Amino acid sequence: MNAVSGKILWVDLTRQTCSEEAVPPEVYETYLSGLGLAAYYLYRRIPPGADALGPENVLAFVSGLLTGTGSMMTGRWMVAGKSPLTGTWGDANCGGTLSPAIKQCGYDGIFFSGISEKPVYLYIGHGKVELRDASHLWGLDTRQTEDTLLAAHQNKRSASVACIGPAAEKLSLIAGISNDQGRMAARSGLGAVMGSKKLKAVVLQGAYPIQAADPEEIKRLSDRFARVAAFQPPFLNGFGARLLGVLMRLMPLSMRQDGILYKFFLQKYGTTGLNQYSIESGDAPIRNWAGSSADFPGQRSASVNPDRIRARETEKYHCYSCPVGCGGMTHFNNGKADTHKPEYETVLALGGLLMNEDLESIFAANEKLNRAGMDTISAGGTVAFAIECYQNGLITREDTGGLELKWDDPRVVLNLLDMMIAREGIGDLLADGTRLAAQRLGGRAREYAVEAGGQELAMHDGRNDPGFALHAVVEPTPGRHTIGAYLYYEMYQLWRRLPNAPRVKQLFYPKKNKYIDSAEKARWAALNSQYTALLNGAGACIFGAFLGAQRFPIFEWLNAATGWQKGPQEYMQIGWNIQSLRQAFNAREGISLRHAIHPRPIGDPPQTQGANRGASVPLQALTRLYWQEMGWDPETGRPPEEVFARLNGHKTTREEKEYAHANH
Ligand code: SF4
Repeated sequence: MNAVSGKILWVDLTRQTCSEEAVPPEVYETYLSGLGLAAYYLYRRIPPGADALGPENVLAFVSGLLTGTGSMMTGRWMVAGKSPLTGTWGDANCGGTLSPAIKQCGYDGIFFSGISEKPVYLYIGHGKVELRDASHLWGLDTRQTEDTLLAAHQNKRSASVACIGPAAEKLSLIAGISNDQGRMAARSGLGAVMGSKKLKAVVLQGAYPIQAADPEEIKRLSDRFARVAAFQPPFLNGFGARLLGVLMRLMPLSMRQDGILYKFFLQKYGTTGLNQYSIESGDAPIRNWAGSSADFPGQRSASVNPDRIRARETEKYHCYSCPVGCGGMTHFNNGKADTHKPEYETVLALGGLLMNEDLESIFAANEKLNRAGMDTISAGGTVAFAIECYQNGLITREDTGGLELKWDDPRVVLNLLDMMIAREGIGDLLADGTRLAAQRLGGRAREYAVEAGGQELAMHDGRNDPGFALHAVVEPTPGRHTIGAYLYYEMYQLWRRLPNAPRVKQLFYPKKNKYIDSAEKARWAALNSQYTALLNGAGACIFGAFLGAQRFPIFEWLNAATGWQKGPQEYMQIGWNIQSLRQAFNAREGISLRHAIHPRPIGDPPQTQGANRGASVPLQALTRLYWQEMGWDPETGRPPEEVFARLNGHKTTREEKEYAHANH
């Protein structure tokens, strides 16, 4: 089949063996590749009730169907497995060079099962597929690990590396997986799964070409898209972004968003372009979600003005096949150290969430967390939790080794992170995120753990856009922000390609309309879920999709890459298949599919000041409507039996029989 390798690699870490498995073409037709491919195999191979840190869990590294075909902004790789943080389906994705590298090794995915006795890394390249000793790498941080491996494998062909740092080695449940020197597939705690398997790294150095069905058509589509992406107005600045945020806060109306505006900021500043806009408009949570824009006004939030961050940029970079290029390297510590430009999520999780206006400490914390391989969102949320626990007597000065935990203190941020990374003192309790820490502390600690389904929430407030709260609880991986929001629906503009997608007609509409539990809003959310699942099957970057379905030719690229002749509706059905399969994974676990969320992000009780004052989200009703729109049971969220039957109807392969025999 065109565009894919047609096979996956299985690595059994217990037996130290590697074997290939052919992927039946109907699997691609039903679930695409990428996240869909991972969902298909993980559902079949991870037994219900498996320990996420045990040998039965399977960790999948998958590349998108479109990666390497010549389409643009389609170079994301995904990692998936059962999450030790949430106990549900878990996944995370990241850009850089790893996604094409997986395919250039001749595979659409690499699946790890079992547990190695000693640290190992997987090497693929130059005709070899081998597990190699990684004892000398154990204990190194992510940048040291990658440097060491790149030096060891330096030759004419460049290598791509994914690895874990000390946080994952110590099984921190908020650990991620790093590639390209500190870019992070951070969410779901899947770094800890890699750590539990004693898999330190993956080194990919293949050279297989990817063949698209119609390269000319792909090029034509990509050229057209590149022209759209190239347009950039000259007058953007951080101060203007802040003023826009103030306007959004003061207006009684919301404005329908067009993603082209977001692209302008993204291209110039990266994701930090709208830092101050988000604080002013009420998107960014302040002081562990209990504060508001009124507590972190313009003169304080100026500390994270995008122009100040850009002033530290030394070089820009972009992921594979991307004409936007939101990434960059920056310096800190008076130019003595460098770090990836911190993302919006990082700046706000270590900034406004902690009332911290010391930019230097945010850069230092970013580098510290990237090197340790720890999720910056969860780490910031956990520090905020600890400060509130301290202020309410649940953590004492004795627990912290004499450190007084308070807001707006960069020393607290950096010291607590050090303790969490090393699992020292109170850091041992905090290294597994807020839910577990609250359980261990007991008492009223739960009141300060702002999470959904066990995962700390990203820096987008459901009181400002109820879609973020809804997706945080209906997603098979709870607490995610990259799947959907009302904002995303407006930017995706799916109604331009799908006749059954409701059009957002008015440019301005009353803000109060956002808080209505209408079937139409649930339809937006259901379409968001399906479309994003499709993007994750293709390996696409959501920032490309934000440009709108009329500009980002994902359906046409898929047809040109595969030779299929499917319409948008058929592709959305594939998105539904992926989403429903991930939900089926959770249903089979026997857990509640209604993930609990902390009351603050849904306005319970409503805030009395700031951009989101008075806002509350009718989450129960919206969840029911969403499940109904998805065609799932409106009371329980269980997908229809056809989802399970389709999987049960798939033939058991020879490899699966061997796997089952070996493991039971
Ligand atoms: S927009 Fe940014 S994250 Fe997305 S593909 Fe381009 S460089 Fe990567």
